[in-house]
Amino acid sequence: MKYKNIAILGSTGSVGTQALEVIASFPERLKATVLTAGSNSDLLIEQALMFKPQSVVIVDPSKYLKVKEALQALPIEVKAGEEALVEVVQRTDIEIVLNAIVGSAGLRSTIEAIQHGKDIALANKETLVVAGELVMGLVRKHGVKMLPVDSEHSAIFQCLAGEEHNPIEKIYLTASGGPFRGRSLDFLKSATKHQALKHPNWVMGAKITIDSASLMNKGLEVIEAKWLFDLEVDQVDVIVHPQSIVHSLVQFQDGSMKAQMGVPDMKLPIQYALTYPDRWANSFERFDFANFSTLTFEPADTKTFRNLAIAYEALRRGGISPCVMNAANEVVVAAFLEEKVSFLGMSEIIEQTLTQVSHITTPTLSDYLAADQESRKIAKGLI
Ligand code: NAD
Ligand code: MG
Repeated sequence: MKYKNIAILGSTGSVGTQALEVIASFPERLKATVLTAGSNSDLLIEQALMFKPQSVVIVDPSKYLKVKEALQALPIEVKAGEEALVEVVQRTDIEIVLNAIVGSAGLRSTIEAIQHGKDIALANKETLVVAGELVMGLVRKHGVKMLPVDSEHSAIFQCLAGEEHNPIEKIYLTASGGPFRGRSLDFLKSATKHQALKHPNWVMGAKITIDSASLMNKGLEVIEAKWLFDLEVDQVDVIVHPQSIVHSLVQFQDGSMKAQMGVPDMKLPIQYALTYPDRWANSFERFDFANFSTLTFEPADTKTFRNLAIAYEALRRGGISPCVMNAANEVVVAAFLEEKVSFLGMSEIIEQTLTQVSHITTPTLSDYLAADQESRKIAKGLI
């Protein structure tokens, strides 16, 4: 049987390492052909020695020689720098690009891969937040598949299998509520990074963990869902479900609802994106009803967790706004992790940045890239 050749962008991160676990459990059928990392050269070297890809990219150029020397005995191409990340997805031996980079840094590789006819397994939700309309237009133009890895979107995607001809009335994205669910504004004023990094159900990279605590992650996911499933803003709703077992729901025109369930384990949506439309037998953990006698649902508190409301507003305004919001958010989350801005200060800076960047209704790719840079500068200035 022929391997499916996969490029994993961001192989050293939380999604990237779990994707390699999935690939390792199907050694006859899946192959990691390309691995890339931002700056974690030690882990990239370890992964390359184990998975023997054709090519690796280390974005941080100061780590190039170290990676090159460590892999010199093997026939592995080693490249460095941001441009290499865009070039490597063009390789003719790649069928599918799993984008597990964090932040808008993943956008150009996604676009380049689509333009070269590769299917995309998308964890990098920022790609669709920044430029969803443009990216989905390219997906249609080049006839590639956009396969969601984000667990909520994978859930919706799984619920829609066989329902392609049936219009969606609305979708419900579930949210765990994060570590601060039920907390007051007063508590959040002095919330620390250590408290925010303790997610109740998922172990993830630092940025998305902070986004989960602030509900920005759900805001980004609302925008991601709008573009992935071609919905109006009002067709995307959010419901808090603290157990993270129901991964999201679709409601059809007859009122029937379909949900996808399972234990909170990213390996499942990662595997489905890599094996779609098939399901392959695995030995991952199974759901046990004995551990979950109750599943609960409650509305999201957008008064306390402003970021979710900000994301809906940015999506309604459209054009450049979600891109501006995303860039400002990346800046404030990094600053929060360095303890340079407070938990609630993050939302204030995002809102101020949104008022300061001039609006563009139908941006081009270069407009998005410029607005991303300008918004970062403004947000940094506000810290
Ligand atoms: P992470 O921080 O653990 O890993 C990020 C990866 O991207 C690393 O390999 C890092 O080296 C690389 N990287 C970082 N900055 C880069 C840059 N500027 N250029 C190129 N590469 C860079 O992040 P993660 O938690 O794995 O999340 C990755 C993406 O997947 C995010 O968009 C996140 O929202 C999404 N996602 C993650 C999870 C999860 O469970 N972790 C779930 C759903 C969606
Ligand atoms: Mg998610």
